[in-house]
Amino acid sequence: MTFPAKTIYNLEDIAGKKALVRVDFNVPLDEDKKVSDDTRLRAALPTIKYLLEQGAIPVLMSHLGRPGGEVDEDLRLAPVVEPLRELLGGIKVKAATDTVGDSAKQMVDSLETGEVGLLENLRFNPGEKACDSEFSRKLAAFGDFYVSDAFGTAHRAHASMTGVPEFLRPAVAGDLLTNEYKVLSEVRDNPDRPFVVLLGGAKVSDKLAVIERFLQHADKVLIGGAMAYTFGLARGEDVGDSLVEPDFVEEARRLLDNRDSYNGELVLPLDTVIVSSDDVNSETQTVPAGEIPDGWEGMDIGPETCKLFASELSESAMVFWNGPMGVFEMEQFASGTNHLAETLAEIDGKVVVGGGDSVSAVNKAGVQDKFYHISTGGGASLALVRGEELPGIAALDKRDKIIDNIDIG
Ligand code: ADP
Ligand code: MG
Repeated sequence: MTFPAKTIYNLEDIAGKKALVRVDFNVPLDEDKKVSDDTRLRAALPTIKYLLEQGAIPVLMSHLGRPGGEVDEDLRLAPVVEPLRELLGGIKVKAATDTVGDSAKQMVDSLETGEVGLLENLRFNPGEKACDSEFSRKLAAFGDFYVSDAFGTAHRAHASMTGVPEFLRPAVAGDLLTNEYKVLSEVRDNPDRPFVVLLGGAKVSDKLAVIERFLQHADKVLIGGAMAYTFGLARGEDVGDSLVEPDFVEEARRLLDNRDSYNGELVLPLDTVIVSSDDVNSETQTVPAGEIPDGWEGMDIGPETCKLFASELSESAMVFWNGPMGVFEMEQFASGTNHLAETLAEIDGKVVVGGGDSVSAVNKAGVQDKFYHISTGGGASLALVRGEELPGIAALDKRDKIIDNIDIG
C-alpha cells in the first residue's frame, strides 16, 4: 500500500526549524477538566518524538469539542499540557491562550530546540471551520513547514487541515495519519478473507453508504444497534418505539430488495432486548427481532444474535467494526457489545475498529490491546472505507517517486 503524500520521514535538514503540526487532541474531559482518556495524546507521540529527535521544534495545534467559533472557558486546551509533558518524558510544553493573537506569537517566538509549543483551541476562531484564508495564513506563519497528523479531522476541509498548506510547504503527513490510512485502505481495498463487517450504532443515515460499499466487497455484513430497527421497519416488522430513521426506510428497503445481487451476505439480528419506553431502568425482556410491542424499545441485541454474530466473526480473517450493538453506556444494555468485543479479542483474524463510541466500548471492555488496529477517527475512518478522498490528505505534498507501484520514496 502506497501512501499518496510525502511524510515526515521524507524530510531532510529540519534541525532548528519550526514544524507546525496539526494534531488531534480532541480528548474527553471529566468534570474536573482532567483528560479522562489519553489515547489520542499517545497516538500523536511518534510524530512529535521524531520531530524532536531530528532537532525540529513542534508547534502543535488542535481543536477540542465544539466551541462554535468563540472562546469557551470549558474547552481550553490547558488540561492537555501536563499529561502531554509527562508522556514526552518531562520536556517543556508551552501553551498559548489564543490561536493567532499576541499570546500565540510570543509563545512561538520564545520556543527553543527541545521544547514543544501548543496553540489554543483552533475552533475558538470562526476561521477554522470556515477555512478562512486570513486565519490560515496567520497559522502558517508559525511554522517553517507543515505536518498533518490529525486523522480524526482528515475528512474536514478546515483551515488547519487544508488552508494552512496553501501557504506553507513542505506539507507532509505524520506517522499516525500515514498508519491510519494504510490500515484502513487495506480494509477497503485488500482485506484478508473471509472479511466480515460488524456495524451498529444509532445513525443509519451516516452509514448507509458504508453498508452498501461493504455489501459489495465484504463476505458478510452483520447489523446490530439501533440501525437494525430501520431495516426491521423496511421489512414491515414491529419495532415498537425503537429508535428508527423513517427517512431512510426506503433506502434500507432497496438494500434488502437487492440482497442477492451483492457479494456480501446481509445478516440481521434474530432477537432483541427490550425495555418499556416509560422507564429504561425497569425490567427488560428478550423478544424475537421484529416482534417489539408498542410502548417498548429495542436497546441491545439478544443472546441468539450474539451467538450467531460470534460464530460468523470467529471464522473471519479480517473484521471491520463500527458502532456498538446496543445502548452500551447503560450496564443493562451493554452485554451484546461487550460479548462481541470479547469474541473479537480472542479470534485469530485481524480486527480493525473505527468510530468514537465503538472505540470507547472496546476500551471499556479492556480488550484494546488485542486488536490489530483501533482508529482514532470516527467520521474519517468511515469516509475512507466508503472510498472518499480525504481533503486533509489531498492537501499535502504528493509523492513523486512511485515507479511501477514500487515505493522507493
Ligand atoms: P460510533 O461513534 O462508534 O460510530 P455511533 O455514534 O453511530 O457509533 O452510535 C453510538 C450510539 O448508538 C451510542 O450512543 C449508543 O447508545 C447508540 N445505540 C446503539 N444501539 C442503540 C439502540 N438500540 N437504541 C438507541 N441507541 C442505540
Ligand atoms: Mg458516535
